[in-house]
Amino acid sequence: MSPRIPLSVPTVGARERDALIAAVESGWIAPAGPQLDAFEARAAQLAGRDRAVAVSSGTAALHLALLVAGVRPGDVVVCPTLTFIASASSIVLAQATPMFVDSDETGSIDPALVDRALGEIGDSGRRVGAVLAVDLYGKVADHDRLQSIADAHGVPLVVDAAESLGATDAQGRRAGSAGLVSAFSFNGNKIATASSGGAVLTDDPALADRARHLATQAREPVLHYEHREIGFNYRLSNILAALGLAQLEQLDDFIAARRSHRAQYRALAEELPGLEILGGADRGDNCWMSSVLIDPEVAGTDAKAVQALLAEDGIESRPVFAPMHGQPVFADAERYPRLLNGVADRLYRTGLSLPSSPASSPEDISEVCERIRVILRTAAPRASAARPVASGDRL
Ligand SMILES: *Cc1c(COP(=O)(O)O)cnc(C)c1O
Repeated sequence: MSPRIPLSVPTVGARERDALIAAVESGWIAPAGPQLDAFEARAAQLAGRDRAVAVSSGTAALHLALLVAGVRPGDVVVCPTLTFIASASSIVLAQATPMFVDSDETGSIDPALVDRALGEIGDSGRRVGAVLAVDLYGKVADHDRLQSIADAHGVPLVVDAAESLGATDAQGRRAGSAGLVSAFSFNGNKIATASSGGAVLTDDPALADRARHLATQAREPVLHYEHREIGFNYRLSNILAALGLAQLEQLDDFIAARRSHRAQYRALAEELPGLEILGGADRGDNCWMSSVLIDPEVAGTDAKAVQALLAEDGIESRPVFAPMHGQPVFADAERYPRLLNGVADRLYRTGLSLPSSPASSPEDISEVCERIRVILRTAAPRASAARPVASGDRL
């Protein structure tokens, strides 16, 4: 049964339908055509970049971003442990090894730990291919700091901006604008979707050309199908680009709706002890996903229990990403190095992502808030009995 108030679903309607029909009727049904060109131009503009190469997924975009940034087989690539699997799997696809680095309190990769990790890899004699930073849940990470650390170690910064399309950092710079190369995703669960899709973004035309070449089977620009290396079949269909373009026209509305949901959750967090918004203060966050942290000592209940109670009411919520260093596929700590401070594990244990869809109304979100209010108020007396000083901590 689908939930009454879903976690995060795209808003797709007549505009998308019309765009798809027009693309089909135009005859441009391959991964080439006017919609694809326009989609790339729009993606580049949104990132404040000179060039964008549209591809079939965000994972493909990250894979190519790492390759054109110069990551080679056997390299180590520093990446956050608190992220979606594609940040790490794209490193493995590039035949490099991810090194998982923990978060600061906002959930983003901890820059001080990145510095230490780069030092440690250097000491081990292995080559560092890149630092891969991630804009978690639509908050642009501190790329100034990460860039200067990467520069000091002589390695490129690559940015996974899959979740931050349309956001800005504290200085008003656009998501996707930082680093040598960055990547967007237009997967069905993202803030704007092409059903499936991604984009490689850069200001360097040579890197963009290289990404485009690798995405089209590394086919040489001659008629007779010549290949000097192995590439990938990663280009985005013109039809999906048409869908993506229709979505991008509405991006501001999608962001406004998600920000409005965030404001409601923030008011709730200010009211209830033991509840806090993951990520801290909003800068130019696109608020793609609103997640809260529930401190069981103060709230008297935990994220898992709240998730189950919300589900009974048809309200979908989900744990935040399970950190990469705890994933079965990366269990071998010798093979997949890590530098941890415990923050990602704590955010995972206490975090809960809440309904964030643009189509949800303020009344829907009020209902979610009211349900959480009742759950926490019912649980709180137990908490204050167990720890009498707790109830006054945040008042
Ligand atoms: C969604 C996502 C990706 C991958 O994008 P796809 O289009 O699903 O392949 C990469 N990184 C992060 C952080 C994501 O959320």
